[in-house]
Amino acid sequence: MNAKQWPTVAYFSMEYGLHSDFKLYAGGLGILAGDYIKGAKDIGAPIVAIGIKWKQGYTDQRIDKDGRPYDTYHNYLYDFLEDTGVKVTVKVRGIPVVCKVWKTEQFGNNPLYLLDTDIPENGDAWITGQLYGWFGEERIAQEIVLGIGGVKAMRALGIPIDVYHFNEGHAALAATELIREKMFDGFSFEEAWKATREEVVFTTHTPIKEGNEEHPLDRLDYMGAFNGLTRDQMVRIGGDPFNMTVAGLRLSRISNGVAQLHAETANKMWKEVAGRSEIIGITNAIHTPTWVDERMTKAFEEGGDLWAVHTELKGELVDFVEERSGIRLNPENLIIGFSRRAAVYKRSDLIFSQPEIIEPYLRDGRIQIVFSGKAHPLDDTGKRIVANLVAMMKKYPKAVVFLENYDMTIGAMLTRGSDVWLNNPRRPLEASGTSGMKASMNGVLNCSILDGWWPEACQDGENGWQIGDGFETTDFELLDKHDSEALYETLLQKVVPTFYENRAKWVAMMHESIATTREAFATKRMLEEYFNRMYIKPSVR
Ligand SMILES: *Cc1c(COP(=O)(O)O)cnc(C)c1O
Repeated sequence: MNAKQWPTVAYFSMEYGLHSDFKLYAGGLGILAGDYIKGAKDIGAPIVAIGIKWKQGYTDQRIDKDGRPYDTYHNYLYDFLEDTGVKVTVKVRGIPVVCKVWKTEQFGNNPLYLLDTDIPENGDAWITGQLYGWFGEERIAQEIVLGIGGVKAMRALGIPIDVYHFNEGHAALAATELIREKMFDGFSFEEAWKATREEVVFTTHTPIKEGNEEHPLDRLDYMGAFNGLTRDQMVRIGGDPFNMTVAGLRLSRISNGVAQLHAETANKMWKEVAGRSEIIGITNAIHTPTWVDERMTKAFEEGGDLWAVHTELKGELVDFVEERSGIRLNPENLIIGFSRRAAVYKRSDLIFSQPEIIEPYLRDGRIQIVFSGKAHPLDDTGKRIVANLVAMMKKYPKAVVFLENYDMTIGAMLTRGSDVWLNNPRRPLEASGTSGMKASMNGVLNCSILDGWWPEACQDGENGWQIGDGFETTDFELLDKHDSEALYETLLQKVVPTFYENRAKWVAMMHESIATTREAFATKRMLEEYFNRMYIKPSVR
């Protein structure tokens, strides 16, 4: 593809996962955004990224001596950031807030511009303090900085933008600025909204209703988020209460979900929203140089010994786990990796739901599981899930490990060195799930419910396994029962016997796993789809 054909895209995201120690990310959304702008660099796509320089990043979540998670925060110094010399001002609660604009291309990524309120000019320097640290007023202030501040930063930097891409609803207020600018130039609200929609595309990520952020209009008004629009105009955009996803859908010319199944789910979820854009499916992808071990890629491409490379990577994981936890797993035995945000729908502890079935395998170490994952700092249920996994580690000391403070390093180690990658969410609540892509491309066999990206890739028993049959019900008790039976059946009748009794088949499956995913779920395919289906204007399409 000729890079010259690309419109210039401004990509807005609350978080970016570019490097393990650059703590501007919380989870999958940020990892996607980081991979996105690295992939853009690789193919020369003119995408500039806008985000926030989080002083304390996301929680460093540790486990206390009683096995419960607790949150800690640290001030980070990112002295490698370039000072653009640009400052822009937004208004929060009627008071001017100055945002300093930093830049980095440090990580093989396209330019990322980061807004920062932690400067002496501001009374409230804490707006950019903690990623997802607060709800309510503070969140709105952060969204004013990202959205409105982000548009102003592009203007101040003199970067002409053709397409504004909102990665999740957090950036929706950017459109109020785009509308305001046009009204300042003499457009009516209607004309300005219509013209703005032609410039905006939107990606939705959350198939859980409550995960789609809403704000009371009074609060938005008080915070200054109307940005010159009237209450009635804001209601027409985002409803009452103002829903950031609804706003994204009504402010864009086209939207997308992050897997084909997710697009279906999202269209059902938002079908009542009048005047919304169409939601198409563009399945997420990963930046392969970041996530796939070069030794494995080389062995695959040159017809080398995949098992020998896997054994090496698994050995490195075993050492890593021992360093972090003091537990030495047996490298001869099966290791299952499971790292995810501790959210109820992800069911990290489903495998323990019928102890009489799984216990014998854990007692003798035929099945070993390494867990990791953080709960949101304000999510007590999520914290109970983490505490339960830690309790399981104490109960099955030979076979269960929980690694605290999940980050990109743990993610990379586990998706390279495990034998199997397990994923058992309540379908259809996992939007995409990029960790399974990392695993698959490293020859780590994916074993998953048919949710997120997996229905698009799974060839059961050939390149991984499916758990169950895609069953869906909102009766969660029934669903969990159904899926735990299916999990045990797949794991104990298929995965375990293949691992211990049919190494040749296992290695053939590793080969298939890599072959069927390495291009289909790499950033190049994803970016070209965004280009062809979202960024090119309909008249050109
Ligand atoms: C890959 C990755 C994710 C996203 O994976 P999911 O499959 O969506 O859970 C989240 N956090 C980290 C640290 C990762 O490396």
